[in-house]
Amino acid sequence: MGRKLLLTHIDVPGIQSYSVYKAQGGYRSVDKALKSMSPDDVVEEVKKSGLRGRGGAGFPTGMKWSFLAKPEGVPRYLVCNADESEPGTFKDRYLMTHIPHALIEGMIVSSYALGAHTSFIYVRGEMMPQIRILEKAIAEAKAAGYLGKNILGSGYDLELYVQPGGGAYICGEETALLESLEGKRGNPRIKPPFPAIAGLYGCPTVVNNVESIAATVPIINDGGEEYAKIGIERSTGTKLISAGGNLAKPGVYEIELGLPVEEFIYSDEYCGGIANGKKLKAVVAGGSSVPILPANLITKTIKGDPRLMTYESLADGGFQSGTMMGSGGFIAFDEDQCIVRNTWNFTRFYRHESCGQCSPCREGTGWMEKVLYNIEHGRGTMNDIDLLWDIQRKIEGNTICPLGDAAAWPVAAAIRHFRDEFEWHINHGQEAQSRNYGLAHY
Ligand code: NAD
Ligand code: SF4
Repeated sequence: MGRKLLLTHIDVPGIQSYSVYKAQGGYRSVDKALKSMSPDDVVEEVKKSGLRGRGGAGFPTGMKWSFLAKPEGVPRYLVCNADESEPGTFKDRYLMTHIPHALIEGMIVSSYALGAHTSFIYVRGEMMPQIRILEKAIAEAKAAGYLGKNILGSGYDLELYVQPGGGAYICGEETALLESLEGKRGNPRIKPPFPAIAGLYGCPTVVNNVESIAATVPIINDGGEEYAKIGIERSTGTKLISAGGNLAKPGVYEIELGLPVEEFIYSDEYCGGIANGKKLKAVVAGGSSVPILPANLITKTIKGDPRLMTYESLADGGFQSGTMMGSGGFIAFDEDQCIVRNTWNFTRFYRHESCGQCSPCREGTGWMEKVLYNIEHGRGTMNDIDLLWDIQRKIEGNTICPLGDAAAWPVAAAIRHFRDEFEWHINHGQEAQSRNYGLAHY
């Protein structure tokens, strides 16, 4: 049985409420930090823990915190990125729904470490139930003296606000999020400067994912070194995985990093294998933005080593035969699924969500979608495969924000590993056309 740090009390009735959460040991990290640790001590523990950003990029959290500029007289902000929108990813929503106080507690301890006195949780606009849950939790924490002026008599003040998001995927990109929080259209900014130097209202700002912030609670409770004992290499601690697609037991699982992918897919403790006894065909391991891998490469690396749920092992082989941990949105495809159709579906999403600032992303996602539509609907030519390859190459690395790369990589990986499926659609035009599930009107 893997260790749980974030979902330990998930099954306790009433854990959503302050009183039950507190009775289970909640808010100990705030008591400890504010009574016996300096802000720098808290940063030091997070550095020791080796925690890496759980939103998708995996950037070391303690390092990000230590980059925060501290000019005299300028406010600093902590902004929680709860704009979870990556297709296949629903773990932050799960955490906020069931244990909202884990996030509130993490926000207080993290804000204290960063010297922030006003902090925000920017929640995806569609998540109205979660917004209400968080607002209630904040009111409860405030009534208990954990927010507001002079928290626990420490002299530390903190106000915490929930901001509904702008309803666009791009608002989850941290600089677009900051623009949106400032009341503007959510267009990504050019980096550098990174938010740690010039973020919200031009002030130093740390933007962290929900899960990263919640993870600071066990780190402060048990110490960074204890946290770092879990996991392998530079992948420390536990990770929430949203498991979906054709799995027998889809859901949100907390795993110890280092778990073999095969065990995650097939053991009864986790996903219980592929639904309806079918065979696994492919996996998107980290949300729609990461390269898809065929079944033989998701459980074993090209060298034949067992593939592990770690940042390093999933990436083993680079983009030729590896993938990425990303946001932990683990989507399994069984033998009946069509990779061309899925690639078209993902590309349609990115085309729709492109903010349109850079031509390679704005135009390229549109072109890729049109070409993929034609191939999927039996109207493609063999030249279209090369055309697709060419378009994605011209997007990758040539855009302001990672949405461009995120649109390019799934297309590249699908062609790399499943070229035969593209060719099948082209060679079986009429037959492919008849598989269109009534979507010919699209
Ligand atoms: P990034 O690598 O640009 O940045 C990671 C973080 O590190 C940022 O907060 C950035 O400000 C900080 N950083 C990096 N270098 C820095 C420096 N020199 N100084 C100070 N700070 C520095 O990646 P990103 O744009 O934040 O994230 C991309 C990832 O987000 C994708 O790979 C994807 O997996 C993921 N994603 C997740 C979701 C979701 O719903 N969870 C949605 C879309 C994308
Ligand atoms: Fe906008 Fe796409 Fe450019 Fe990102 S890459 S800034 S989403 S056009």
